[in-house]
Amino acid sequence: MYIEKLDNKGRGITYKNNKITFVENALEGEDVEIKITNEKAKYNEAIVVKYNNLSKDRSEVKCPYYDYCGGCDLLHFKYKKELEFKKKKVMDILKKFGGIEFKINNIISPVEYNYRNKATFQVKEKVGYYGKKSYNIINIDNCLIVDERINDILRRIKKLNLKNIYQLIIRVSQNDSMLIIKCDNDIDNRFKELNLTSIIMFKNKKYEVIKGQDYIIEVLGNLKFIISPDSFFQVNTCGAVELYNKVLEYSNLTGTEKVLDLYCGTGTIGLFLSKCAGEVVGVEINRSAINDALKNKKLNYIENIEFICDDASNINLSEFDLIIVDPPRKGIDQKTINYLLNSGSKKIIYVSCDPVTLARDLKKLKEKYEVKDITLVNMFSKTEHCESVVLLYNK
Ligand code: SAH
Repeated sequence: MYIEKLDNKGRGITYKNNKITFVENALEGEDVEIKITNEKAKYNEAIVVKYNNLSKDRSEVKCPYYDYCGGCDLLHFKYKKELEFKKKKVMDILKKFGGIEFKINNIISPVEYNYRNKATFQVKEKVGYYGKKSYNIINIDNCLIVDERINDILRRIKKLNLKNIYQLIIRVSQNDSMLIIKCDNDIDNRFKELNLTSIIMFKNKKYEVIKGQDYIIEVLGNLKFIISPDSFFQVNTCGAVELYNKVLEYSNLTGTEKVLDLYCGTGTIGLFLSKCAGEVVGVEINRSAINDALKNKKLNYIENIEFICDDASNINLSEFDLIIVDPPRKGIDQKTINYLLNSGSKKIIYVSCDPVTLARDLKKLKEKYEVKDITLVNMFSKTEHCESVVLLYNK
Protein backbone atom coordinates (compact mmCIF):
# COMPACT_ATOMS: atom_id res chain seq x y z
CA MET A 1 0.00 0.00 0.00
CA TYR A 2 1.36 3.39 -0.97
CA ILE A 3 1.30 6.14 1.70
CA GLU A 4 0.01 9.23 -0.09
CA LYS A 5 0.19 11.84 2.67
CA LEU A 6 0.03 12.44 6.41
CA ASP A 7 -2.99 13.24 8.54
CA ASN A 8 -2.88 15.91 11.28
CA LYS A 9 -1.76 13.39 13.87
CA GLY A 10 1.23 12.43 11.73
CA ARG A 11 -0.23 9.07 10.60
CA GLY A 12 0.21 7.88 7.04
CA ILE A 13 -2.86 7.89 4.79
CA THR A 14 -3.59 5.21 2.23
CA TYR A 15 -6.79 3.90 0.64
CA LYS A 16 -7.85 0.29 0.99
CA ASN A 17 -10.78 -0.53 -1.30
CA ASN A 18 -11.36 3.23 -1.57
CA LYS A 19 -11.72 3.57 2.20
CA ILE A 20 -9.38 6.02 3.92
CA THR A 21 -6.93 4.12 6.12
CA PHE A 22 -4.74 5.72 8.76
CA VAL A 23 -1.47 3.88 9.20
CA GLU A 24 0.71 4.32 12.27
CA ASN A 25 4.44 4.76 11.84
CA ALA A 26 4.22 5.28 8.09
CA LEU A 27 5.55 8.24 6.12
CA GLU A 28 4.58 9.75 2.78
CA GLY A 29 6.10 7.89 -0.14
CA GLU A 30 6.59 4.64 1.77
CA ASP A 31 5.27 1.42 0.33
CA VAL A 32 4.04 -0.76 3.19
CA GLU A 33 2.12 -3.91 3.93
CA ILE A 34 -0.49 -3.26 6.59
CA LYS A 35 -2.70 -5.00 9.11
CA ILE A 36 -6.06 -3.37 9.88
CA THR A 37 -6.45 -2.92 13.65
CA ASN A 38 -9.75 -1.04 13.70
CA GLU A 39 -12.38 -1.21 10.99
CA LYS A 40 -15.05 1.50 11.00
CA ALA A 41 -17.79 2.38 8.52
CA LYS A 42 -15.94 5.41 7.19
CA TYR A 43 -12.27 4.65 7.86
CA ASN A 44 -9.75 2.02 8.94
CA GLU A 45 -6.83 2.20 11.30
CA ALA A 46 -3.80 0.05 10.62
CA ILE A 47 -0.25 -0.80 11.56
CA VAL A 48 2.65 -1.68 9.28
CA VAL A 49 3.75 -5.31 9.09
CA LYS A 50 6.39 -4.80 6.42
CA TYR A 51 8.18 -1.82 4.88
CA ASN A 52 9.04 -2.27 1.18
CA ASN A 53 10.93 1.03 1.16
CA LEU A 54 11.78 3.69 3.73
CA SER A 55 11.34 7.44 3.41
CA LYS A 56 14.38 9.73 3.51
CA ASP A 57 12.49 11.61 6.23
CA ARG A 58 12.46 8.58 8.50
CA SER A 59 14.54 8.62 11.66
CA GLU A 60 15.71 5.71 13.70
CA VAL A 61 13.38 5.33 16.72
CA LYS A 62 15.35 5.43 19.93
CA CYS A 63 12.48 4.47 22.27
CA PRO A 64 11.68 0.81 23.04
CA TYR A 65 8.06 1.60 23.99
CA TYR A 66 7.13 3.57 20.89
CA ASP A 67 4.88 0.98 19.22
CA TYR A 68 2.48 0.76 22.15
CA CYS A 69 3.04 3.81 24.43
CA GLY A 70 0.40 6.57 24.23
CA GLY A 71 2.98 9.36 24.61
CA CYS A 72 4.86 10.28 21.44
CA ASP A 73 3.60 10.33 17.85
CA LEU A 74 6.55 11.51 15.78
CA LEU A 75 9.65 9.66 16.97
CA HIS A 76 10.04 8.14 13.49
CA PHE A 77 10.22 11.61 11.89
CA LYS A 78 13.55 13.30 11.28
CA TYR A 79 13.45 16.52 13.28
CA LYS A 80 13.46 18.71 10.16
CA LYS A 81 10.47 16.76 8.86
CA GLU A 82 8.67 17.15 12.20
CA LEU A 83 9.02 20.95 12.01
CA GLU A 84 7.81 21.01 8.40
CA PHE A 85 4.91 18.75 9.30
CA LYS A 86 3.80 21.10 12.09
CA LYS A 87 3.95 24.18 9.88
CA LYS A 88 1.86 22.46 7.23
CA LYS A 89 -0.56 21.07 9.80
CA VAL A 90 -1.29 24.46 11.36
CA MET A 91 -1.59 26.11 7.92
CA ASP A 92 -4.01 23.40 6.71
CA ILE A 93 -6.15 23.66 9.85
CA LEU A 94 -6.29 27.47 9.73
CA LYS A 95 -7.43 27.26 6.12
CA LYS A 96 -9.95 24.46 6.66
CA PHE A 97 -11.57 25.64 9.91
CA GLY A 98 -10.83 29.36 9.84
CA GLY A 99 -10.78 30.29 6.16
CA ILE A 100 -7.38 31.84 6.85
CA GLU A 101 -4.61 31.47 4.31
CA PHE A 102 -1.33 32.41 5.89
CA LYS A 103 2.13 31.18 4.99
CA ILE A 104 3.83 30.17 8.23
CA ASN A 105 7.59 30.50 7.93
CA ASN A 106 8.68 30.57 11.52
CA ILE A 107 8.83 27.68 13.91
CA ILE A 108 10.99 28.05 17.00
CA SER A 109 12.41 24.70 18.05
CA PRO A 110 13.96 24.93 21.50
CA VAL A 111 14.96 21.32 22.31
CA GLU A 112 14.36 18.02 20.61
CA TYR A 113 14.50 15.54 23.52
CA ASN A 114 14.34 15.61 27.34
CA TYR A 115 12.40 18.86 27.41
CA ARG A 116 9.43 18.09 29.69
CA ASN A 117 9.63 19.46 33.23
CA LYS A 118 6.59 17.44 34.32
CA ALA A 119 5.53 13.83 33.92
CA THR A 120 2.50 11.90 35.16
CA PHE A 121 3.01 8.19 35.75
CA GLN A 122 0.13 5.78 36.33
CA VAL A 123 0.63 3.13 38.97
CA LYS A 124 -1.13 -0.25 38.97
CA GLU A 125 1.21 -3.22 39.20
CA LYS A 126 3.24 -1.43 36.52
CA VAL A 127 4.47 2.17 36.66
CA GLY A 128 4.36 4.17 33.47
CA TYR A 129 2.16 5.80 30.84
CA TYR A 130 -1.14 4.72 29.38
CA GLY A 131 -0.84 2.82 26.12
CA LYS A 132 -2.10 4.06 22.77
CA LYS A 133 -5.86 4.70 23.09
CA SER A 134 -6.06 2.49 26.16
CA TYR A 135 -5.87 2.48 29.93
CA ASN A 136 -3.34 -0.35 29.93
CA ILE A 137 -0.24 0.84 31.68
CA ILE A 138 3.04 0.57 29.81
CA ASN A 139 5.95 0.07 32.18
CA ILE A 140 8.46 2.90 31.65
CA ASP A 141 12.03 3.07 32.95
CA ASN A 142 13.30 5.85 30.74
CA CYS A 143 11.31 8.41 28.75
CA LEU A 144 13.11 10.29 25.99
CA ILE A 145 11.10 13.49 26.22
CA VAL A 146 11.28 14.17 29.97
CA ASP A 147 14.08 15.92 31.84
CA GLU A 148 16.76 13.36 32.77
CA ARG A 149 16.20 14.18 36.45
CA ILE A 150 12.63 12.90 36.11
CA ASN A 151 13.90 9.57 34.76
CA ASP A 152 16.32 9.38 37.62
CA ILE A 153 13.62 10.12 40.23
CA LEU A 154 11.29 7.61 38.57
CA ARG A 155 13.89 4.84 38.77
CA ARG A 156 14.48 5.57 42.46
CA ILE A 157 10.76 5.62 43.24
CA LYS A 158 10.25 2.30 41.47
CA LYS A 159 12.45 0.63 44.05
CA LEU A 160 9.97 1.61 46.79
CA ASN A 161 6.74 -0.05 47.82
CA LEU A 162 3.95 1.64 45.81
CA LYS A 163 0.97 -0.04 47.44
CA ASN A 164 -2.25 2.09 47.54
CA ILE A 165 -0.76 4.61 45.11
CA TYR A 166 -2.47 5.18 41.76
CA GLN A 167 -0.53 8.08 40.26
CA LEU A 168 2.82 9.85 40.61
CA ILE A 169 3.48 13.32 39.23
CA ILE A 170 7.05 14.55 39.06
CA ARG A 171 7.92 18.19 38.37
CA VAL A 172 11.40 19.64 38.14
CA SER A 173 12.61 23.22 37.85
CA GLN A 174 16.07 24.76 37.56
CA ASN A 175 16.93 23.98 41.20
CA ASP A 176 13.93 22.16 42.64
CA SER A 177 11.97 18.94 42.29
CA MET A 178 8.47 18.01 43.40
CA LEU A 179 6.80 14.63 43.75
CA ILE A 180 3.01 14.44 44.05
CA ILE A 181 1.78 11.08 45.28
CA LYS A 182 -1.87 10.37 44.55
CA CYS A 183 -3.16 7.64 46.83
CA ASP A 184 -6.20 6.09 48.49
CA ASN A 185 -4.62 5.55 51.89
CA ASP A 186 -2.03 7.42 53.92
CA ILE A 187 1.53 6.74 52.89
CA ASP A 188 4.15 6.12 55.53
CA ASN A 189 7.71 7.40 55.70
CA ARG A 190 9.01 5.43 52.75
CA PHE A 191 9.32 8.49 50.43
CA LYS A 192 11.00 10.86 52.86
CA GLU A 193 14.46 9.55 52.05
CA LEU A 194 14.16 10.67 48.43
CA ASN A 195 16.33 13.67 47.80
CA LEU A 196 13.60 16.02 46.54
CA THR A 197 12.69 19.63 47.39
CA SER A 198 9.05 18.89 47.93
CA ILE A 199 6.92 15.78 48.45
CA ILE A 200 3.15 16.16 48.47
CA MET A 201 0.44 13.60 49.13
CA PHE A 202 -2.90 13.93 47.35
CA LYS A 203 -5.68 12.04 49.12
CA ASN A 204 -9.44 12.64 49.31
CA LYS A 205 -9.02 15.53 46.85
CA LYS A 206 -6.63 17.35 49.21
CA TYR A 207 -2.91 18.13 49.00
CA GLU A 208 -0.78 17.55 52.10
CA VAL A 209 2.91 18.32 52.40
CA ILE A 210 5.03 15.30 53.36
CA LYS A 211 8.38 17.01 52.95
CA GLY A 212 9.59 20.55 52.11
CA GLN A 213 7.32 23.33 50.85
CA ASP A 214 4.00 23.15 49.03
CA TYR A 215 5.60 24.73 45.95
CA ILE A 216 8.74 24.78 43.84
CA ILE A 217 10.35 27.76 42.13
CA GLU A 218 11.16 28.05 38.44
CA VAL A 219 13.39 30.66 36.86
CA LEU A 220 12.47 32.04 33.44
CA GLY A 221 14.70 34.80 32.10
CA ASN A 222 15.13 37.27 34.97
CA LEU A 223 11.97 36.20 36.74
CA LYS A 224 11.12 33.61 39.36
CA PHE A 225 7.84 31.74 39.45
CA ILE A 226 6.15 29.74 42.16
CA ILE A 227 4.59 26.50 41.00
CA SER A 228 1.96 24.91 43.25
CA PRO A 229 0.93 21.27 42.84
CA ASP A 230 -2.27 22.08 40.98
CA SER A 231 -1.43 25.20 38.99
CA PHE A 232 -0.76 25.17 35.29
CA PHE A 233 2.83 25.77 34.25
CA GLN A 234 4.23 25.37 30.73
CA VAL A 235 5.77 21.89 30.55
CA ASN A 236 8.68 22.93 28.35
CA THR A 237 10.80 25.48 30.24
CA CYS A 238 13.08 26.49 27.34
CA GLY A 239 10.05 26.61 25.08
CA ALA A 240 8.19 28.83 27.56
CA VAL A 241 11.01 31.40 27.53
CA GLU A 242 11.01 31.38 23.71
CA LEU A 243 7.23 31.68 23.66
CA TYR A 244 7.10 34.59 26.12
CA ASN A 245 9.92 36.38 24.28
CA LYS A 246 7.95 36.06 21.06
CA VAL A 247 4.88 37.54 22.79
CA LEU A 248 7.11 40.36 24.08
CA GLU A 249 8.46 40.99 20.58
CA TYR A 250 4.94 41.02 19.05
CA SER A 251 3.78 43.37 21.84
CA ASN A 252 6.28 46.01 20.75
CA LEU A 253 5.65 47.92 23.99
CA THR A 254 6.98 51.40 24.67
CA GLY A 255 6.41 51.53 28.43
CA THR A 256 3.05 53.26 28.58
CA GLU A 257 0.58 50.67 27.32
CA LYS A 258 -2.33 49.09 29.21
CA VAL A 259 -2.17 45.33 28.71
CA LEU A 260 -4.76 42.66 29.52
CA ASP A 261 -3.49 39.09 30.03
CA LEU A 262 -6.57 36.85 29.75
CA TYR A 263 -6.26 33.24 30.99
CA CYS A 264 -3.10 34.34 32.77
CA GLY A 265 -2.46 31.19 34.87
CA THR A 266 0.24 32.01 37.42
CA GLY A 267 0.78 35.39 35.71
CA THR A 268 3.78 34.36 33.63
CA ILE A 269 3.09 36.29 30.43
CA GLY A 270 1.84 39.44 32.18
CA LEU A 271 4.82 39.49 34.54
CA PHE A 272 7.16 38.93 31.60
CA LEU A 273 5.68 41.96 29.79
CA SER A 274 5.23 44.20 32.85
CA LYS A 275 8.70 45.76 32.68
CA CYS A 276 7.91 47.14 29.22
CA ALA A 277 4.26 48.13 29.82
CA GLY A 278 2.47 50.90 31.69
CA GLU A 279 0.13 48.60 33.54
CA VAL A 280 -1.02 45.00 33.24
CA VAL A 281 -4.17 43.20 34.37
CA GLY A 282 -4.20 39.39 34.55
CA VAL A 283 -7.44 37.37 34.62
CA GLU A 284 -7.64 33.72 35.59
CA ILE A 285 -10.41 31.40 36.81
CA ASN A 286 -8.32 29.10 39.02
CA ARG A 287 -7.94 30.48 42.57
CA SER A 288 -4.76 28.54 43.25
CA ALA A 289 -3.12 29.91 40.08
CA ILE A 290 -4.15 33.46 41.07
CA ASN A 291 -2.65 32.98 44.53
CA ASP A 292 0.60 31.92 42.83
CA ALA A 293 0.36 34.92 40.48
CA LEU A 294 0.10 37.28 43.48
CA LYS A 295 3.10 35.59 45.12
CA ASN A 296 5.04 35.84 41.83
CA LYS A 297 4.29 39.55 41.68
CA LYS A 298 5.79 39.99 45.16
CA LEU A 299 8.69 37.62 44.56
CA ASN A 300 9.80 39.70 41.57
CA TYR A 301 9.10 43.13 43.13
CA ILE A 302 6.70 44.06 40.33
CA GLU A 303 4.16 46.78 41.06
CA ASN A 304 2.37 47.60 37.83
CA ILE A 305 0.33 44.38 37.57
CA GLU A 306 -2.92 43.33 39.19
CA PHE A 307 -4.73 40.00 39.07
CA ILE A 308 -8.43 39.21 39.00
CA CYS A 309 -9.79 35.77 39.80
CA ASP A 310 -12.79 35.36 37.50
CA ASP A 311 -14.11 33.70 34.38
CA ALA A 312 -12.68 35.54 31.36
CA SER A 313 -16.23 35.84 30.01
CA ASN A 314 -17.25 38.07 32.96
CA ILE A 315 -14.66 40.71 32.18
CA ASN A 316 -15.93 44.06 30.96
CA LEU A 317 -12.89 46.26 31.52
CA SER A 318 -11.99 48.48 28.60
CA GLU A 319 -9.32 50.64 27.02
CA PHE A 320 -6.53 48.14 26.67
CA ASP A 321 -3.91 48.81 24.03
CA LEU A 322 -3.08 45.14 23.87
CA ILE A 323 -4.94 41.98 24.88
CA ILE A 324 -3.18 38.65 25.23
CA VAL A 325 -5.26 35.48 25.27
CA ASP A 326 -3.85 32.07 26.15
CA PRO A 327 -6.91 29.86 26.60
CA PRO A 328 -7.00 26.12 27.34
CA ARG A 329 -7.46 23.64 24.48
CA LYS A 330 -11.18 24.33 24.13
CA GLY A 331 -10.44 27.89 23.02
CA ILE A 332 -12.42 31.06 23.71
CA ASP A 333 -16.17 31.03 24.47
CA GLN A 334 -18.56 33.18 22.47
CA LYS A 335 -19.11 35.76 25.23
CA THR A 336 -15.38 36.42 25.49
CA ILE A 337 -15.10 36.58 21.68
CA ASN A 338 -17.82 39.28 21.73
CA TYR A 339 -15.88 41.11 24.42
CA LEU A 340 -12.72 41.00 22.29
CA LEU A 341 -14.61 42.19 19.21
CA ASN A 342 -15.96 45.19 21.13
CA SER A 343 -12.78 45.87 23.09
CA GLY A 344 -11.36 48.43 20.69
CA SER A 345 -7.91 47.07 21.47
CA LYS A 346 -5.42 47.84 18.70
CA LYS A 347 -3.73 44.50 19.01
CA ILE A 348 -4.50 40.99 20.21
CA ILE A 349 -1.92 38.25 20.67
CA TYR A 350 -3.50 34.80 20.68
CA VAL A 351 -1.37 32.01 22.19
CA SER A 352 -2.88 28.61 21.42
CA CYS A 353 -2.07 24.97 22.02
CA ASP A 354 -4.85 23.73 19.73
CA PRO A 355 -4.90 24.90 16.12
CA VAL A 356 -8.49 23.71 15.53
CA THR A 357 -10.05 25.92 18.22
CA LEU A 358 -7.60 28.66 17.25
CA ALA A 359 -8.88 28.53 13.66
CA ARG A 360 -12.52 28.58 14.82
CA ASP A 361 -11.85 31.62 17.04
CA LEU A 362 -9.82 33.52 14.43
CA LYS A 363 -12.70 33.05 12.00
CA LYS A 364 -14.98 34.82 14.50
CA LEU A 365 -12.43 37.55 15.23
CA LYS A 366 -11.88 38.14 11.50
CA GLU A 367 -14.76 40.59 11.47
CA LYS A 368 -12.49 43.12 13.23
CA TYR A 369 -9.02 41.60 13.58
CA GLU A 370 -6.70 40.42 10.85
CA VAL A 371 -3.75 38.09 11.17
CA LYS A 372 -0.46 40.00 10.87
CA ASP A 373 1.96 37.25 11.81
CA ILE A 374 2.15 33.71 13.14
CA THR A 375 5.05 31.98 14.85
CA LEU A 376 4.96 28.38 16.00
CA VAL A 377 6.88 27.14 19.01
CA ASN A 378 7.67 23.44 19.09
CA MET A 379 6.82 23.09 22.77
CA PHE A 380 5.84 19.44 22.46
CA SER A 381 8.58 17.91 20.35
CA LYS A 382 7.98 14.30 19.19
CA THR A 383 4.23 14.64 19.68
CA GLU A 384 1.65 15.87 17.18
CA HIS A 385 1.02 18.98 19.29
CA CYS A 386 2.21 22.49 18.57
CA GLU A 387 1.94 25.92 20.16
CA SER A 388 0.99 28.89 17.97
CA VAL A 389 1.44 32.61 18.64
CA VAL A 390 -0.74 34.81 16.45
CA LEU A 391 -0.44 38.57 16.16
CA LEU A 392 -3.72 40.26 15.25
CA TYR A 393 -4.28 43.90 14.32
CA ASN A 394 -7.54 45.80 14.52
CA LYS A 395 -8.51 46.42 10.89
N1 SAH B 1 -0.77 32.06 30.22
C1 SAH B 1 -0.49 31.09 31.23
C2 SAH B 1 -1.53 29.98 31.39
C3 SAH B 1 -2.22 29.45 30.18
S1 SAH B 1 -3.11 27.94 30.41
C4 SAH B 1 0.90 30.49 31.04
O1 SAH B 1 1.49 30.62 29.97
O2 SAH B 1 1.43 29.90 31.98
C5 SAH B 1 -4.76 28.45 30.40
C6 SAH B 1 -5.27 29.00 31.70
O3 SAH B 1 -6.62 29.41 31.52
C7 SAH B 1 -5.29 28.00 32.87
O4 SAH B 1 -4.55 28.53 33.93
C8 SAH B 1 -6.77 27.86 33.22
O5 SAH B 1 -7.00 27.72 34.61
C9 SAH B 1 -7.33 29.18 32.71
N2 SAH B 1 -8.78 29.20 32.37
C10 SAH B 1 -9.51 28.19 31.85
N3 SAH B 1 -10.77 28.61 31.61
C11 SAH B 1 -10.83 29.91 31.99
C12 SAH B 1 -11.87 30.89 31.97
N4 SAH B 1 -13.08 30.59 31.51
N5 SAH B 1 -11.58 32.12 32.41
C13 SAH B 1 -10.34 32.44 32.86
N6 SAH B 1 -9.32 31.54 32.91
C14 SAH B 1 -9.56 30.29 32.48
